Amino acid sequence: MGRKKGYIHEEGVKKKIKKSLKGRHVSPYTEFKKGKEHPQYKGARAFAKIVKNYYPLHNWIKSRKPKSMFCEKCGKITDKLDCSNISGKYLKDISDWRWLCRSCHKSYDLNKLDGRLK
Ligand SMILES: [Zn+2]
Repeated sequence: MGRKKGYIHEEGVKKKIKKSLKGRHVSPYTEFKKGKEHPQYKGARAFAKIVKNYYPLHNWIKSRKPKSMFCEKCGKITDKLDCSNISGKYLKDISDWRWLCRSCHKSYDLNKLDGRLK
């Protein structure tokens, strides 16, 4: 999380510096503070877009992919399995999805979403 924030933030600061070089003189500290708001908003919007596209597809896959009895990652036998995307491309193809237990799914998807927001 810290790395991602830092990356986006740096981009915002660069833009602001470019702008301030063109225009009137502004204190670098003020610019630094203002640059913080926008990239965060952009990140939240990107996240909302991913979630919006993800769930209808998720249901489509779930209704077609035969349900497993165990987690395809850690092998735990459980009936609490979630359908998880493998490639990160969210293909409308059941071979691009696998059954994961709650804990594997959570950590796998969080990593993936985090990567896509960079
Ligand atoms: Zn698992």
